[in-house]
Amino acid sequence: MRKLNTYKRIAIKVGSALLVDQHTGLRSEWLESLCSDVAALQKAGCEVMIISSGAIALGRSVLNQPSGALKLEENQAAAAVGQIALAPAWNNTLSAHGLIGAQILLTLEDTESRRRYLNARATLGELLKLGAIPIINENDTVATSEIRYGDNDRLAARVATMMDADLLVLLSDVDGLYTAPPAQNPAAEHLPVVDAITPEIEAMAGSAGSDLSRGGMRTKIDAAKIANQAGAAMIITNGKVNHPLRAFEEGARATFFKPVKAPKSAWKSWIAGNLAPKGLIFVDAGAQKALQSGKSLLPAGVKTVEGTFARGDTVAILLEGSKLEIARGLVSYDSDEASQIVGLKTSEIEDVIGYSPRAAMVHRDDMVMST
Ligand code: GLU
Repeated sequence: MRKLNTYKRIAIKVGSALLVDQHTGLRSEWLESLCSDVAALQKAGCEVMIISSGAIALGRSVLNQPSGALKLEENQAAAAVGQIALAPAWNNTLSAHGLIGAQILLTLEDTESRRRYLNARATLGELLKLGAIPIINENDTVATSEIRYGDNDRLAARVATMMDADLLVLLSDVDGLYTAPPAQNPAAEHLPVVDAITPEIEAMAGSAGSDLSRGGMRTKIDAAKIANQAGAAMIITNGKVNHPLRAFEEGARATFFKPVKAPKSAWKSWIAGNLAPKGLIFVDAGAQKALQSGKSLLPAGVKTVEGTFARGDTVAILLEGSKLEIARGLVSYDSDEASQIVGLKTSEIEDVIGYSPRAAMVHRDDMVMST
C-alpha cells in the first residue's frame, strides 16, 4: 500500500496551497522535490500524470490581489495570469529531472460528453505512451459556474478513471479523513483506511475548504467515490513537506481509500462518475424495486421529470418525495417527451409520441445503481 511503484498508472493531484504561498508566490523548492519524486517513480516504471491546481492562487499572487472572494471575471483573469506562469515552472522543473512536461487544460464537457471524453483520453494516452508527464488543470479562463468542475479533486478523479489509473493521490494541506472536521472538533480521530464510502463516511467530511483551494473534504470524498467505484485506490496525504511522495512511502500520515473488488466497466464507471446530471427522474417504489433487481426503468414507474435534457444525457433517478439517488443513467427520451409519457404503459406511448417507443426510459445497460 505504501510502495507507490507497485502501481502502474498514478494520477497525482496537487493542491494550490502546496504550490503557492500567498505571500511569497511559487514554492519552487517544494516543486523541485516533487518532480524529483516523480522522476524516481517514472524510473521505476510507473506512468504518472499530474492534476495541478494553483493557477488562480499564483495569478492572485502575481497580481497582488488581496485575499477574499473574487468576482468570476477576476478569477478568470487571475487564472490566465497564473496558468502562464505555472506552465514554465512545471516544465523547467520536470526537464531538470529529465522529464517531458505536457500541458492539458480541460473543461467540464471534456470528461462529461462522451465524444470529447474519448478525444481527451486518446491524447492523454498518447502522451503517457511517449513518456511525457501530463500537467492537467481546468481551463478556468473559459469555465463559468454552470460548466465547470470547480474543484480539482473531482477533476482528478474523472481524469484518473478516464485513464484507468490504478491510484489517485491527493496531495493536500490535510493529512487525511477524520471522524469529524478536526478544526472544529479537537476530539476528531484520523482514519488510516476507508474500506467503503458509506453514508457515515460521507457525514464525516463536513464542507470546509482552505483559503486557497476550492475543494474541502467533501469534494475529496466525491473523488474517492468516483475513483474507488472504477477500481482505483485513492490516498489523501499532507503534501506540504518536501518530497511528499517519498514522505508518504516512508510512513507520513494518510488515509487510504480502498477500491471496490469488482469495479464497474469503463462505460458504467463513466456514467456513475458523471459530475453534472442534466435532469432528475422521480420514480415510485415499484420501479425502485425493479431497478434494484437489475431491470430497466420503464415510463410506467416514473412519477415526475425535472430539468431540460436531450436523449443520451445523464439523469439521476430518485425515489419520489425523497432526495435519495437510486441510480444514474443515460435517458432514452428528451425531457419534453419524457414528461408526456410519465406513468404510461408501453402500449399507450406510441399514440402520444407518434413513433414506436424505445425499450425503456433508461435502459439497464446504460444505468448504474447509486446505492
Ligand atoms: N483550477 C483551480 C486553479 O488552478 C483550482 C481548483 C481547486 O482549488 O481545486 O487555481
